[in-house]
Amino acid sequence: MIWDELHDELAALKRDGLTRRRRTLESPCGPLVTVDGRQLVSFSSNDYLGLANDPALVAAACAGARVWGVGSGASHLVSGHLGAHAALEARLAAFTGFARALLFSTGYLANIGIVPALVGRGDAVFSDRLNHASLIDAVHLSRAESRRYAHGDLDALERQLAMSPARRKLILTDAVFSMDGDLAPLPGLLALAERFDAWLVVDDAHGFGVLGAQGRGALAHFGIAPSPRVVYMGTLGKAAGASGAFVAGGAELIEWLLQRARSYIFTTGSSPIIACALLASVELIEGGDARRAHLRALAAQLRSGLADTRWELLPSPTAIQPILIGDNFAALRVADALAERGLWVPAIRPPTVAKGSARLRVTLSAAHSAAQVDQLVRALRELA
Ligand code: PMP
Repeated sequence: MIWDELHDELAALKRDGLTRRRRTLESPCGPLVTVDGRQLVSFSSNDYLGLANDPALVAAACAGARVWGVGSGASHLVSGHLGAHAALEARLAAFTGFARALLFSTGYLANIGIVPALVGRGDAVFSDRLNHASLIDAVHLSRAESRRYAHGDLDALERQLAMSPARRKLILTDAVFSMDGDLAPLPGLLALAERFDAWLVVDDAHGFGVLGAQGRGALAHFGIAPSPRVVYMGTLGKAAGASGAFVAGGAELIEWLLQRARSYIFTTGSSPIIACALLASVELIEGGDARRAHLRALAAQLRSGLADTRWELLPSPTAIQPILIGDNFAALRVADALAERGLWVPAIRPPTVAKGSARLRVTLSAAHSAAQVDQLVRALRELA
């Protein structure tokens, strides 16, 4: 029967230590969560500024529901573009310094909308090898030629660009790599984009709200001024604490995406409640220097606490602090041992990361206390 294959493939996943399991939280997202009646200190969310359950966001969501209701009722281009969405787009454009911004319902949808809208058959996309799955899928959907360069390798990219006969070129990169926590060499990428007249699409899912002055993101971190060549994508379900994403860029680029990005056009507008919560969130991000300073201090605390141990931390200046393990089962064993000690750190395995590079992905949040990070450091030192 057709489903026998699924049975065999599920068994194969189990044999290889690759079965994933959801855990149901009995509490909101935060540094302390309840799972199966047990309280755990969570180092597993992307809620980098601790805004997911912030009272200001909750209040804005409740007030927003009273004004706008719950649903948008249609796609943005039909009748689902409400005042709350428009206000948020204007706020995000001003905050990032670009001419215009366009809201998407998730970062995944934004990425699979952007790339096929800008390139197609006869064009070429140049991607960092460690780009997020949504960017990889976006390239497939576009039908453009796909070239991948070694992680962060500007020389390799330059050679590929120089050799390419493609009509239109697009360089695609995570700004902060989601499973490694390191930064793309954005100034060098922009210089190459300029030299070869390519688009530069920057996925700042993990930098928006965290990096740069007032949390304006990875471009601000590098002092890169908004350029008409840059397509800046930020997600709103991580540091911003809610859900969704936006693309910011030049006015005509955004108009083109509005006209042509299929994942924008053919989906219902996100709830106006989310837009209201996000308007409050951008205020907190902008005024959030203390949160970001605390987050940086926690990262330094974790790194110095594990410096003289066998744990191999990847060189990350961000809230993502992965510990490389290698073997799938070994990573699971350490994660289980931490869970026994009341600490939730996810083991990340292939296909999310390359074979043989399973890791613990520690994510820090400004909502963590130094005592909670100390608890993690002590547990890892014991397990070393
Ligand atoms: N890009 C990157 C780099 C990501 O890490 C993620 C989410 N893990 C996404 C895009 C997708 O964003 P969303 O969760 O909003 O769909």
